[in-house]
Amino acid sequence: MPDLETDVLVAGAGPAGLLLAAELALAGVRTTIAERLPERPPYCRGFNLNARSLDLLARRGLAEGLVAEGHRVPHAPVTGLPGPLLLDGTATGHPFSLGIPQTRVEEVLEARARELGVEIRRDHEVRSFTRSADGVTAQIHNGQTIRARYLVGCDGGRSTVRKQAGIGFPGVDARWYALLGDVECELPYGPSAGPDGRSVFVIPRPGYVRIVVREDDPPSDKNTPVTLERLQAQVDAVLGRHVELRAPRWLSRFGDAARLAERYRSGRVLLAGDAAHIHPPAGAIGVNVALDDAFNLGWKLAAVVRGTAPEGLLDTYHDERHAAGERILANTRAQVALEEAGAEPWADLMRRVAAHPAGNRALAEIITGLDACYAMGGHPWLGRLAPDVPVTVSGRPTHLAALLHAGCPVLVDLTGAFAAWSSAVEVVHAASPSTSDIEAMLLRPDGHAAWVGTPGSGDAGLAEAVHRWIGDVPVPATA
Ligand SMILES: Cc1cc2nc3c(=O)[nH]c(=O)nc-3n(C[C@H](O)[C@H](O)[C@H](O)COP(=O)(O)OP(=O)(O)OC[C@H]3O[C@@H](n4cnc5c(N)ncnc54)[C@H](O)[C@@H]3O)c2cc1C
Repeated sequence: MPDLETDVLVAGAGPAGLLLAAELALAGVRTTIAERLPERPPYCRGFNLNARSLDLLARRGLAEGLVAEGHRVPHAPVTGLPGPLLLDGTATGHPFSLGIPQTRVEEVLEARARELGVEIRRDHEVRSFTRSADGVTAQIHNGQTIRARYLVGCDGGRSTVRKQAGIGFPGVDARWYALLGDVECELPYGPSAGPDGRSVFVIPRPGYVRIVVREDDPPSDKNTPVTLERLQAQVDAVLGRHVELRAPRWLSRFGDAARLAERYRSGRVLLAGDAAHIHPPAGAIGVNVALDDAFNLGWKLAAVVRGTAPEGLLDTYHDERHAAGERILANTRAQVALEEAGAEPWADLMRRVAAHPAGNRALAEIITGLDACYAMGGHPWLGRLAPDVPVTVSGRPTHLAALLHAGCPVLVDLTGAFAAWSSAVEVVHAASPSTSDIEAMLLRPDGHAAWVGTPGSGDAGLAEAVHRWIGDVPVPATA
């Protein structure tokens, strides 16, 4: 007998695991998180949410509170270009990056997950698991077992779940490593160059600074702990003088390896976030991609667990997010290559493209993932995140994103001709001044458009879209 039975076991309480669990619980699925650490670490890795993440979180009413707490910056972080990428005019309801500690985002997501009934078991490391026809049984380091219908590895780049599932993680090894130290010191913010042109980067953080410096001769075991002495020696070597580093809060090492899981799904085992992809630290994208994965998977897995959608819906998670992962790896590697290219002609060309307002906008959308479009073909809005336009519902002004707060698919009916579809999906009769060439739109719970009705097309293709994305529900006889 297992010590606990649940519908979905999520390994890891990082951004991916917490948002995924909250999404599953919102849909009424019994969800448990097993997290290796007894408590959240005292240091903070990431410090931003990008425009795409804010757009997604807004579909659950979660962006507003975070935006009120954070610090808005009107551009997207990028590596290798002389200036930032302006977000003005890009396809987003949030044309800014939000400066906010990753730990704070995790706190907000954890509070939501708990509120919705997720059980979070800390100090529970998933060591291995066995599969059966109808579930997965995970062995926890303390000898307990947890049985679930599905297991999702949100357990970071060194994912035990990915390795135990036998999912390949092809890619490229790191060519360089950098040391990171959250310390106090007298160096000015920004890059400080040494006599041979190499630099130490100093990033301001609340009450301390983050030092980043390339590491000469990294140890063969990259898990060897970084000491203050090691970081101090490297900083002094690069600067050619001694600058004292004090009060270390966090010392670490990272590299530019890029790897992508071969499959995001292996039967009843799935992967999300860093467990599915690692990439160079360019464009400050990791938390954001983790949230994007979780948002894509949550409603699909919930529908399959609840039996309203067929298993095949889970394969669209692999199709959509593996393709997104390929783009993230390509984008981050390209940024590093751009940084290293110096005065190469192609790099100069890219910088001139970025200096052009239209080029700047296009790059900002590519690098933040705002250009996300899941392959569905047809109308230009199909597969894209529907814009958060103002709409009027039952005489009350609201926004499209608010129609998705409950996490259910919605057929937005702008003509009143689709009422009969309420047997299959929630139909919201809305008025909008901004969508004159669209009569109706089927929105998936993640806000991506799954069907678009245009003048004269009636409900052609709607039944197929409903069956594909919602399941085998009754559709009107006229369809
Ligand atoms: C120095 C640094 C700076 C960064 N800056 C940014 C930034 O500015 N913006 C940005 O978007 N991203 C940034 N990132 C990347 C970002 O931190 C990660 O991409 C993000 O945390 C991934 O989220 P995740 O939920 O997939 O995994 P993680 O946050 O790694 O969470 C995985 C969780 O799983 C737990 N776990 C591991 N193994 C097990 C197991 N076997 N059983 C149970 N639990 C387990 C871990 O303890 C952890 O809590 C940065 C990363 C680093 C290292």
